[in-house]
Amino acid sequence: MAGGVPGREARRRALVFPLPFQGHIDPMMHLAGALHARGLAVTVLHTRFNALRPARHPEFRFVEVPDGVPADVAAAGRIIDVILAMNAAMEASPAGVRAALASAMLAGGEEEQEAERRPRGAAACLFIDGNLLAVQRVAAALGLPTLVLRTGSAACLRCFLAYPMLHEKGFLPPQESNLYTPVPELPPLRVKDLFFSPVSNHEKVREVLARITESVRNSSGVVINTSEALEAAEMEQLRGELAGDGLPLLLAAGPLHKLSSRSAGSSLLDQDRSCIAWLDTRPPGSVLYASFGSLAAMDPGEFLEVAWGLADSGHPFLWVVRPKLVRGCDSVQLPDGFEDAVKGRGMVIRWAPQQEVLAHRAVGGFWTHGGWNSTLEGVGEGVPMICRPDAVDQMMNARYVQDVWGVGFELEGELERGRIRDAVRRLMEGEEGAEMRERAKVLRRKVADCLESSGSSQIAMDKLVSYILSL
Ligand code: UDP
Repeated sequence: MAGGVPGREARRRALVFPLPFQGHIDPMMHLAGALHARGLAVTVLHTRFNALRPARHPEFRFVEVPDGVPADVAAAGRIIDVILAMNAAMEASPAGVRAALASAMLAGGEEEQEAERRPRGAAACLFIDGNLLAVQRVAAALGLPTLVLRTGSAACLRCFLAYPMLHEKGFLPPQESNLYTPVPELPPLRVKDLFFSPVSNHEKVREVLARITESVRNSSGVVINTSEALEAAEMEQLRGELAGDGLPLLLAAGPLHKLSSRSAGSSLLDQDRSCIAWLDTRPPGSVLYASFGSLAAMDPGEFLEVAWGLADSGHPFLWVVRPKLVRGCDSVQLPDGFEDAVKGRGMVIRWAPQQEVLAHRAVGGFWTHGGWNSTLEGVGEGVPMICRPDAVDQMMNARYVQDVWGVGFELEGELERGRIRDAVRRLMEGEEGAEMRERAKVLRRKVADCLESSGSSQIAMDKLVSYILSL
């Protein structure tokens, strides 16, 4: 990791504003950490909804922004609805966002003196999640340049940019009859791999994606949490597609969690660290880690099948059962007899220190919903994966895991205990699993090379910091 450079950059400040969901908060906070490690001061803007805990990040300054999310929308916690409600509230009354941004732009102490010499204040720029178009509009009115952090893959951003075309050509909304139709404009994706939500109104999804596209096109640059080792072709295509917009920067700077130190600081749920001591007692490569991220949910019947599938596999496992994993249940009950059946070989916890778990030598496989962060974290540790995508970009991530990188496979069809048992054995025991594990190790090395001092992700960070200092 490049160290902080003393001097001028130590006085420059970057503002960051993550979308308040776990999979969006983590990469933004890792980007903040990487910028801080290179000598920039950082102010984090955050909402009351899923508020961050400033005491856990003494290195950053924090400013709260009124989010205006109605209580019922916040309680339901559906990401698409929260994004639309938050943007609508901020657009209807931008004064709160304007006041928060204006205060964040003026830093204290040394920076304040600097601010007097610079008409735009101490902050050089604002990094926003692409879902925060309302914030970008306020920043533009204040003369503050914005850069977008895309927390999904480059392929996912290509899909967003192509969304109008995908509708014009009839690929979307998806139909039962065209799910396996290839989309020639976005190889290797088929219709079933495109970004959509089976549980949200498709028009709302379309609106959210159109707004992300607008925020990308209005920004001074886009940082994507990906690596040239994973998506060189997709980055190249994006450069072509966005060139006309005059974006000075389009950078693959990830995996960002590898650029700044591992920290539990931005976790919305408390991590249960007892699993690390348990993993310490297990043989290398023996444990399957099963976790479906922060939002994915399953029906009660599916939950039973997952429990018994894991039990029947005969393999040691660590399973994250977070509150609300089962639809309609606030607290999840394990089935009768399950704990006895897996005694000594299965551990169930509410929330894991996931990056540390995946890096543990005892972990030999990862059953994931295929969120982009989880995918990057599995790839980053060379752990082969079973993907069970639920919605949004998870289907395309599974496609890349299985067919582009060959480091895992998708578990398709009904969730049924016998199929789950077989999938776990396929990954953990068979020759095919061993090949995936080998490819996962090779891919991990390639991703790690990009993080070395002359690697593409470090060069991307260098360019980013130079750009910020030039503002
Ligand atoms: N995560 C975690 N502990 C868990 C499960 C998940 O810390 O027990 C973290 C995980 O490391 C990842 C994030 O939550 O960084 C989930 O993001 P992802 O994009 O994989 O999925 P999402 O939750 O957005 O669907």
